[in-house]
Amino acid sequence: MPCTARDAAAAVRRGADAMAEHRDELVELDRAIGDGDHGENMDRGFRAVVAQLDLADPPTPGAVLKLVATSLISSVGGASGPLFGTAFLRAASSAGEVEELDGATLAASLRAAVEGVVSRGKAEPEDKTMIDALLPAVRAAEERATSGADPAEVLAAAAEAATTGARSTVPLIARKGRASYLGDRSAGHLDPGARSVALLLAAFADVTGVE
Ligand code: ADP
Ligand code: MG
Repeated sequence: MPCTARDAAAAVRRGADAMAEHRDELVELDRAIGDGDHGENMDRGFRAVVAQLDLADPPTPGAVLKLVATSLISSVGGASGPLFGTAFLRAASSAGEVEELDGATLAASLRAAVEGVVSRGKAEPEDKTMIDALLPAVRAAEERATSGADPAEVLAAAAEAATTGARSTVPLIARKGRASYLGDRSAGHLDPGARSVALLLAAFADVTGVE
């Protein structure tokens, strides 16, 4: 089943629930290698997203993604607000004004999202950032889309790869963001931004394509 604006909005709302449910966990992860605000940032950002969704009825999946981007950018400071904002903004541009996303156009949106984060944050793989979850997720999404998978299947593959990717950040030494100030002491901890990416994709996968 393709992904409509309604599916996209429902997915985003589920993502907001996940950020609220995991707020404390994300705070703890960021307390270990950052300043402890990541859970608050993501929860506040997605509350703002839901508030905007309650007011508007975006007509296309791209418009939903654009609303997410602008809400995150205006409500979240720190590193993650502009980075997640850019991800959703690029995904929105990629989705354009089509009424429905299929597996391939959804995978293309994910690819645009990761490219946006890389161009904004300049992180490379294994720098211990959200890229370590997002990039494998995009690759898995593209692979599934190539074999004709629908958005639900594409997102499920992306979510699974993101979870594995996030876990892979544990032994890494951070080379970008606040965690990099810790040097070697950043090793042994899960990157909070990578965890958020995995949680969001799992939440999106949970709802997309389900009426
Ligand atoms: P801040 O670091 O400003 O307190 P957050 O705590 O909300 O912001 O977000 C931290 C997360 O942002 C990190 O866990 C990491 O995944 C991500 N991050 C930080 N810098 C970069 C970057 N340059 N590129 C990609 N992701 C980054
Ligand atoms: Mg922080």
